[in-house]
Amino acid sequence: MIHQVTRGFVEVADRVFLARYPQWDVGVGLVLGRDGAVVVDTRASDVQGGQVLDDVRRLARDVEVRHVVNTHVHFDHTFGNVAFDAATVHAHHNVALGLRAHAERIRAAVREDPSAAPEYGYTEADLLQVLVTPVRGPDRTFGSNATIDLGDRVVTMAYAGRGHTDGDVAVLVPDAGALFLGDLVEESDHPSFGDDSWPLDWADTLTAHLVAAGEPTVVVPGHGRPVDAAFVERQRDEVAAVAAVLRERRLAGIPLEEALHEPDTRLPYPAAHLEAAVRRVWAQLAPPPP
Ligand SMILES: [Zn+2]
Repeated sequence: MIHQVTRGFVEVADRVFLARYPQWDVGVGLVLGRDGAVVVDTRASDVQGGQVLDDVRRLARDVEVRHVVNTHVHFDHTFGNVAFDAATVHAHHNVALGLRAHAERIRAAVREDPSAAPEYGYTEADLLQVLVTPVRGPDRTFGSNATIDLGDRVVTMAYAGRGHTDGDVAVLVPDAGALFLGDLVEESDHPSFGDDSWPLDWADTLTAHLVAAGEPTVVVPGHGRPVDAAFVERQRDEVAAVAAVLRERRLAGIPLEEALHEPDTRLPYPAAHLEAAVRRVWAQLAPPPP
């Protein structure tokens, strides 16, 4: 999918910005405060992280990026960390635990197939950068909640359970009503169920974030345009439907191969999109007794 994106940061709430980039259609957040700025996610390489920093400076010449938050472990959100020398990188404990192994898996996959994918906006040069970028993990990790004080406003980070990965955090700017949900929500594609996802937990995690955020005025997904709380509720219900149907079929004793190749018509997304979700649920739930 190719998406028309405006270059640079666009304000989505009071002094809260989103920049969208073509490679993997990833979104990067920016929160400005009196004592510096917070960047939410850093794209897929040192070069791409450096471009984010350039875009920050184009918007606000003298601002210092003092903090980076990684919404989760995936390379398109973390590999740009290394470009932010002056910043403290914040993330969930599980991002620190899982980043090196994730990086190895991604690099192995890139080595196996180093060809461009125009539908996802990346070139062979982008993939080469993924291979050579030094991995920089978080400096400060947390298990449930953490706060960044920008002097005249705070930014809060919260973990509410597993979903897209085991370390997804929400980033909230309470005074602006802006909520970043990383890849717990996607606007430009269906939510991504990978082989590190937790399909059975995901919907409850989203509900917890929505409740904790009160009534967010804008929600920024990991990929795509900003949305509202009603969009998140609809996608949460779709993810809940995926979990309910897969759980039911697993507990009915349906073999994995059948679940993969004869998908249930109640599922809200195409079968090809849910292959990893099926495998995850079959692995996570015990089969029924004989
Ligand atoms: Zn992701």
